[in-house]
Amino acid sequence: MSQSKQERSSDHVGAAPQYDAIVIGAGFGGLYMLYKLRNELGLRVRAFDKASGVGGTWYWNRYPGALSDTESFVYCYSFDKGLLQDWHWDTRYVTQPQILTYLEHVADRFDLHRDIQFNTGVTAAHFDEARNVWIVRTDTDETFTARFLVTALGLLSATNVPDIKGIETFAGEQYHTGAWPEHIDFAGKRVGVLGTGSTGLQVITAIAPLVKHLSVFQRSPQYSVPVGNGPVAPEEVAAVKGQYDQIWKDVRNSVVAFGFAESAVPAFSVSEDERQSVFQKAWDKGGGFRFMFETFSDIATDPAANEAAASFVRSKIAEIVDDPETARKLTPTEAYAKRPLCDSGYYATFNRDNVSLIDVKATPIEEVTPKGVRTSDGVEHHLDILIFATGFDAVDGNYTRIDIRGRNSLAIRDHWASGATSYLGVATENFPNMFMILGPNGPFTNLPPTIEVQVEWIADLVEYASKAGINVIEATGQAENGWTSLCTEIADQTLFSKAASWIFGANIPGKTRSVLFYLGGLGAYRQHINGVAADHYQGFRLQPSDPAASTAAMASVG
Ligand code: FAD
Ligand code: NAP
Repeated sequence: MSQSKQERSSDHVGAAPQYDAIVIGAGFGGLYMLYKLRNELGLRVRAFDKASGVGGTWYWNRYPGALSDTESFVYCYSFDKGLLQDWHWDTRYVTQPQILTYLEHVADRFDLHRDIQFNTGVTAAHFDEARNVWIVRTDTDETFTARFLVTALGLLSATNVPDIKGIETFAGEQYHTGAWPEHIDFAGKRVGVLGTGSTGLQVITAIAPLVKHLSVFQRSPQYSVPVGNGPVAPEEVAAVKGQYDQIWKDVRNSVVAFGFAESAVPAFSVSEDERQSVFQKAWDKGGGFRFMFETFSDIATDPAANEAAASFVRSKIAEIVDDPETARKLTPTEAYAKRPLCDSGYYATFNRDNVSLIDVKATPIEEVTPKGVRTSDGVEHHLDILIFATGFDAVDGNYTRIDIRGRNSLAIRDHWASGATSYLGVATENFPNMFMILGPNGPFTNLPPTIEVQVEWIADLVEYASKAGINVIEATGQAENGWTSLCTEIADQTLFSKAASWIFGANIPGKTRSVLFYLGGLGAYRQHINGVAADHYQGFRLQPSDPAASTAAMASVG
């Protein structure tokens, strides 16, 4: 970056803010926020993404097999009827290239590209209390200022590469699935995959037929059900498009927002035969969230119901996997209480002659060597390519990688040292005029509907503030504590809190384990946040620029 550019942008630091709002991120969240604030509210907005294009998750995760596990008809925006009617899908789920093409289309259709600066990482964002302005610095050595800062940084975006001894000595190629290059040639290669979460299952199943040999390094075995992908007839697509108003209404009032009605039937209210038949039907239909939430109402909350579902999956592993010892290693014994997984033939992949399973709980990885991976039994697994499907520093990981500072120069990484919190998943005390999309303690759902709900709610608040002459909006500590307690209370009623996963920050060594989601469902969340808005944004401190004028304006807005 040239000196002149830096000087030019620095000029704005002392002047009125250049922008009404700065948006960080150009995935589902950032794109819609830009559209809302710029196209609908007419504000001056600039968005940044470190990627070279739009898409977020779907820009970065280009690994073979990357597929939504939300069904196509609800893995999209709903805000524009024309866009919705033009949304084309012909399979039950959408692949990474299809979703990326869709998001590129959205950006073109609403002319968003011209206000997004790509290849630009935001390195710092400081709130200037004297002027109530955010000062944003980038890795291109530029500085920008704005009244509002909206962070659409992604909740599964900050990659987690484990700190394994010798990793830098590996002579072959190594990749994290969340920063995947355009093309990798697998033919004739010995490949190792570390990690068996949603990503690991997809990439393992997809590349097994392409590679010479695949070594799967598994720490925790997983419960997974078939995804059930396949063609969707044009008449079915047309029928969905004819009913979209009702479908979205139902989605927004549901719990997990996956486009089906969650079951209201407890698992032990039916006979053993009927229970097995419900599980079998769900297995045949496919879909992880359907298996957990459409079968019975209490799989995620009642240990006995959970065990019934878990033992059904265990019996399937025993049926599918030929080698009993491999089947044993693949079979989980803990509760079925992580984000539900689904796959396109994961367990059967281990029947292939070119696939081996290494249980790294039994024989932990000691080091990565130039030739491959050495486990504690002394075996050196020779590899040409090592793939990290080791997930993400979820939810707050991208926040703590930026030097975000609020009042009194408080750093967000200090503010959240004992666990990331928020009020309503969108704001946090001491960081005025900063709004988060999918921030900590937002709903745990199919995410585009939640993103839309949050974006619309934030835009309404910004509009309300501008009409009422309010220039500082800040969550109160009391409201934030109340929301955190509610999220904890709900989480404690579920079995999710018993499992070590990214949902509670348990996957990152040294990270404080805390509740990171509102597990009460999207319908209840909407009711709550709409109530807050109707009550003049109760729980927020709203500071008028001109107190006298603003009191009158607030009365008229209300
Ligand atoms: P993201 O799409 O993650 O976008 C965040 C953007 O912020 C990124 O482009 C990133 O480059 C940018 N960014 C971050 N930090 C900075 C910075 N400092 N400076 C500049 N730019 C920055 N959810 C579902 O509901 N259903 C699914 O089927 C599903 N499948 C998934 C599959 C995979 C492989 C993964 C990883 C996630 C999946 N998810 C799924 C979750 C998915 O992340 C969300 O559905 C959704 O795409 C999130 O959109 P977003 O805009 O909030 O964040
Ligand atoms: P993940 O669920 O966190 O899984 C990471 C895997 O890496 C786990 O098996 C974990 O083992 C393992 N791992 C991490 N560190 C390790 C270490 N040091 N040594 C050995 N193993 C290690 O991450 P993910 O699979 O990327 O999925 C994250 C989320 O993204 C999903 O839950 C989902 O929300 C979304 N996603 C969705 C889809 C989809 O189906 N549409 C696809 C991909 C991702 P442990 O379990 O023992 O920790």
